[in-house]
Amino acid sequence: MQEPPAQEATNKEASNAPTAPDGAWIIDVRGLTKRYGARAVVDDVDIQLAPGRICGFLGPNGSGKTTTIRMLCGLLTPDAGEGTCLGLDLRRDALRIKRQVGYMTQRFGLYEDLSIRQNLDFVGRLFELPHRKRAVDDALERLGLVGRQHQLAGSLSGGWKQRLALAACLIHNPRLLLLDEPTAGVDPKARRDFWDQIHQLAAQGITVLVSTHYMDEAERCHELVYIAYGKVLARGTERDIVQGAGLHVAEITGTLSAAQDAALRAAPGVQSVAAFGTSLHVTATDPAALQAALVPLRNQSGLHVRPANANLEDVFISLIGRAKDNYGNG
Ligand code: ADP
Repeated sequence: MQEPPAQEATNKEASNAPTAPDGAWIIDVRGLTKRYGARAVVDDVDIQLAPGRICGFLGPNGSGKTTTIRMLCGLLTPDAGEGTCLGLDLRRDALRIKRQVGYMTQRFGLYEDLSIRQNLDFVGRLFELPHRKRAVDDALERLGLVGRQHQLAGSLSGGWKQRLALAACLIHNPRLLLLDEPTAGVDPKARRDFWDQIHQLAAQGITVLVSTHYMDEAERCHELVYIAYGKVLARGTERDIVQGAGLHVAEITGTLSAAQDAALRAAPGVQSVAAFGTSLHVTATDPAALQAALVPLRNQSGLHVRPANANLEDVFISLIGRAKDNYGNG
């Protein structure tokens, strides 16, 4: 992982106490639940987010992230739960919430045969902005799009399209951004630029909830919520989550036979076996169980086994394994 810029490191340090004075939470929801048929696809989810924070929303496909985000921005009515978004009641004020948050969906929804400026102008009309030209100018300026404003959206690369989409969801000057996998399918350089922009917006006091599958992006968030099968399995800073999981990890380099690999995965107490580059991470919460599982691999030529620190991905893989046992068939 790259070292984060100094400003970000400071933010992360300050992130250990994410408190907001009474009534000042930007998101404050409890017990959020959505059912489709008999299945709760979002099940009793609590989220509190203070101003200017960047919260990463992680979890496997189908775990309920989009559904949660759509409830937070007033597009879906929860079946249970309550709370506020931007101080507005999730049920009573859904329409006002919808108009006040910036929501970026996985599909950008831009008009390919309109220019960047025309797209932003169109979004400004939808929001019925009173000073539309100035809002468009500000959005172009904010996202560094002035030089390309007359270029057709359809001719832009993925990274520039994504930047236009971000400009579009900022046009009405929202204090909260809800971003649903905004960087899916975007190249690494554009993803880095995007995250620099997100940090600049947060420094201006904008609060961001962003769903992602990328661990390097998770590491750039002030705090994280990890969800699977509709339930929150972990929350807090990266450090809180890694320490809270209490995982012991061994790193194995060298090639295991199929039988060794299978035996390791089946060993009592082993929670996950996952490849990281050219090595394997084996995790367990019980250090004795981990050592016992590794005995057959010790002193074997070509294999090196050593202790390692748990990372976020180790923790998430282990959490999802446990969740599968608890909720997977429910
Ligand atoms: P994620 O964003 O984490 O991938 P989603 O919130 O999109 O997850 O979906 C959570 C679960 O709810 C999935 O199993 C999905 O198939 C189901 N789901 C989402 N929308 C509907 C719907 N309108 N009707 C029935 N099931 C739905």
